[in-house]
Amino acid sequence: MDIIREDTIDTFVSGNKFRKLTYNLQKAKATGHTSLLTFGGAFSNHIAAVAAAGNRLRLNTIGVIRGEELAELQRNPTLKYAEEHGMQLHFVSREAYKQKEAPEFISRLKDTFGDFYLLPEGGTNDLAVKGCEEILGERTHEYDYICTSAGTGGTMAGLVRASERHQQVIGFSALKGAFQVSEIKKYTDKTNFTLLDTYCFGGYGKIDVGLVRFINDFKKQTQIPLDPIYTGKMMYGICDLAQNGFFEADSKILAIHTGGLQGIKGMNEKLSRKNIPQIE
Ligand SMILES: *Cc1c(COP(=O)(O)O)cnc(C)c1O
Repeated sequence: MDIIREDTIDTFVSGNKFRKLTYNLQKAKATGHTSLLTFGGAFSNHIAAVAAAGNRLRLNTIGVIRGEELAELQRNPTLKYAEEHGMQLHFVSREAYKQKEAPEFISRLKDTFGDFYLLPEGGTNDLAVKGCEEILGERTHEYDYICTSAGTGGTMAGLVRASERHQQVIGFSALKGAFQVSEIKKYTDKTNFTLLDTYCFGGYGKIDVGLVRFINDFKKQTQIPLDPIYTGKMMYGICDLAQNGFFEADSKILAIHTGGLQGIKGMNEKLSRKNIPQIE
């Protein structure tokens, strides 16, 4: 198996979030926007990436964060980073957050914050998918399987779009339920992909001792760090599938390291409260 190290692009505008932002930021600039607004949870890699990118490009950033109660609490490492990089955090209840795509909700945000370039939660839109296509290229044609983690499915949609006919794109969902299939179908008619939620460890952000051990062992053996929300679960899944004969003999497997390493610190704080060993 080979790994494309998208995690090394940048610590904060990392991996697929860099790909998803590239064309969107170009458009935001080209259309004269001075602010970006987006949505995310408290540990979101997307929130960290938007804060970092906005800071570098001198764009104001506003992060609408799920969870009203978080406003009063001490900031976790992701939100602290975002705030330190100039992101204005706007905490909303989980109920209100569900309305995030409703035009009335967006127009109320415009009343509060002025005009902004809107990036959806997780950053997935047409331009984001286009950016993710560029993860693949000439050098990846030799592979039979392309493996990625999937959250919204936007990254996977880009990979499917850029894949060759002989390639299978395997997505490892970080969440329960393979609902991303319908998202992917919005962006492509190709069907050379499979989405599995077998390795989601019970749901988004859920983790157990076995996964922590796997991530730590993997790093010891390969020097490659994995994050607990996305890439750790994907790699665990790839190894498990390989042991169970899922991949055809002598086939070439490519795994995309989509980044997300900024999330380790926040996860470790959670793990220490639960007496689970740390991610090293
Ligand atoms: C956001 C993220 C994903 C999921 O990407 P989608 O395009 O939403 O499927 C996968 N890996 C990492 C590290 C991420 O930060």
